[in-house]
Amino acid sequence: SKTLRIILGDQLNIEHSWYKETDDNTVYALFEMKQETSYVKHHIQKVVGFFLAMRNFANALREQGHRVAYMKISDKKNKHQLIENIEQLVKEHHITAIHYQEPDEFRLDAQLQKGLKKIGLPLKVYTTEHFYTTRNELEKFSKDRKKTVMEDFYRYMRKKHQILVEGDKPVGGQWNYDKNNRKKWNAEVLIPLPYEPRNNCKQILQEIKEAGITTFGERTAVFNYPISRKQAKAQLDYFCKELLPFFGDYQDAMHTSQDFLFHSKLSFAMNTKLISPKEVVEAVENEFYKSSNIDISQAEGFIRQVIGWREYMRGIYWQLGVDFKQENFFKNKADLPNFFWTGDTKMNCVKRAIQNSLQNAYAHHIQRLMILGNVALLLGVAPDKVDAWYLGVYVDAIEWVQLPNTRGMSQFADGGLIATKPYVSSASYIHKMSNYCSSCFYNHKTKTNEDSCPLNTLYWDFLHRNKEVLKNNHRMRMMYSLLNKMESKQKEFHEILEKAKKIKEAPDYC
Ligand code: FAD
Repeated sequence: SKTLRIILGDQLNIEHSWYKETDDNTVYALFEMKQETSYVKHHIQKVVGFFLAMRNFANALREQGHRVAYMKISDKKNKHQLIENIEQLVKEHHITAIHYQEPDEFRLDAQLQKGLKKIGLPLKVYTTEHFYTTRNELEKFSKDRKKTVMEDFYRYMRKKHQILVEGDKPVGGQWNYDKNNRKKWNAEVLIPLPYEPRNNCKQILQEIKEAGITTFGERTAVFNYPISRKQAKAQLDYFCKELLPFFGDYQDAMHTSQDFLFHSKLSFAMNTKLISPKEVVEAVENEFYKSSNIDISQAEGFIRQVIGWREYMRGIYWQLGVDFKQENFFKNKADLPNFFWTGDTKMNCVKRAIQNSLQNAYAHHIQRLMILGNVALLLGVAPDKVDAWYLGVYVDAIEWVQLPNTRGMSQFADGGLIATKPYVSSASYIHKMSNYCSSCFYNHKTKTNEDSCPLNTLYWDFLHRNKEVLKNNHRMRMMYSLLNKMESKQKEFHEILEKAKKIKEAPDYC
C-alpha cells in the first residue's frame, strides 16, 4: 500500500506527528497553484512568501529522509488545481490511501471533501496540531452563555492552559491590562534595528511572472518575513529580547516614521505554522519571568492577542460558517476607493497605512482597524470588496483569521457578534494615538471647512445614517446624545451631511 499525504501551503508544521518516522511508502505532496493565487488579487509578497516557505519546507522534509512530490508554479505538469494535481499523483505513484490535515478555510475544506470523495480512495483526516483549540471549542464554550465576549474566552484559555496564572488567579492581580496599552509613541523609546531575514526572491519572482500571475504591491528583491522554522525562531527571539519590553505600551500607537513599531511580525510564521502559538506564548512567558525589565502589562498584552484574539477568531469563523461571508448589517454597497490600491490620498493616516500595506504587505493591527477599516466603514464600502482587499494585501491573510477581523471586527457586518460596537472614529482618536494629523493636509479639528478632515465629516454622517440600528447600543449612547445635540442645530448639521455626501460620491478626491 502507498499513501499520499497532502500538505497545504499554510500547513508547514515540521513538528507534526506525521514526520516523526520516515516511510518509503508515504509520499508527501505540496503544490504551488494558480487556484491559490487567483481567488483574489494578491500582493506579490504574499505569493512569494508562501512559495518560498513551501519550497523550504519540502527541502526540510527531504533532509529528514521523507519522500516529497513538489509541484512548482513553473512545472509543465502542474494542473494548478488541487484535486487534479492529486489525481495525477495518485496515478503516477499508484497511491492506495490519502491523508490530509484539516484545512483552516471553508473553501479548501469543501474542495478536499468533495474532490477526494470523487477519487474514492480511503481517507484519513488529521488535525494540524497547531492551534490551542479545536475548531468547535469556542462554540462549545459559548453554548450555555447568553453572549460570549472575547474576554470570557480569554480567561478560560489562561486558566485552562495555565498561562500567566498562579493557581486560578492572574499574575499581577488583573486579567487584562488593556488600559495600559494605549500610549502614543514619540520616539522617547528607541526602536531597535529590525530582524530582517532578507530571503532572496529573484528566482521565484521570475517564475511567478512567467506563470502570468497578476499581483499588486511592491516587488522587493528580498522577502523580509521568516520562511523557515529557524528564521521564525530567530524572529521570536528577537521580539522577546528587543520589543517585548515595550510591546504593550505602544500596541495601539501609530507613527509616520515607523511601519512596525514594537509589533512582532510573527503572523506570517504562525499562520503558515512554521511556529506554533504555544511556542510563541511560552517564549514570551519565559522572558517575562526571566527579565526584570518586562512589566506584566507588556507580556499580558501580547499573550492576549495570541491565545485570546487569534484562537477566538478561529472559533468564530467555524462557528458562523460560510453564511458569515454574506453578512452585511449596514447594507453597505459603495465601491472601494481607488486609493486603496495606490495610496494616493491627502488623508495622511490613510496614505501611511496604505503605503505600509503596499510596500510591506503588512500593516499593524491599529492601522488595519482604526485607519483602513474605519475609512471603509465610514464610506459605506461593500464588505465583499473590503474582504477581497484585505485577503489579498497582507502576507498573513488567510480567510479564517482575515474574515472575522475584517467583516466582523472592523466592518461590524455581523451586527455586533464580535465587536460590541462599530470601530469608527473621527480624527480625534487618530490624533491622540499618532503624529499623522500634524503633517496632514487636512485640519483634524474641524468638520465642515474646505480643509476639514474628511473622517470628521463622515463620522457624524455615519452615526446619523445608521441611527435606527445603533442608537440602542449602550456603548454608543454618549455619541448619540452628542449627535442629537448636533442635529438640533439644523443648518450646521445640514452642512455636514452635504459635505459627507460629496466625499462619499468621490472619495478619491480626498
Ligand atoms: P503583533 O501585534 O505582534 O501581535 C502578535 C500576534 O497576535 C500576531 O502575530 C497575531 O497572530 C495575533 N493577533 C493579534 N491581533 C489579532 C487579531 N485581531 N486576530 C487574530 N490574531 C491576532 N491577522 C492575521 O493573522 N491575518 C489577517 O488576515 C488579519 N487581518 C486583519 C484585518 C483587520 C481588519 C484587522 C483589524 C486585523 C487583522 N489581523 C489579521 C490581526 C492583526 O492585525 C495581525 O495579526 C497583526 O497585525 C500581525 O502583525 P504582528 O505579527 O506584528 O502582530
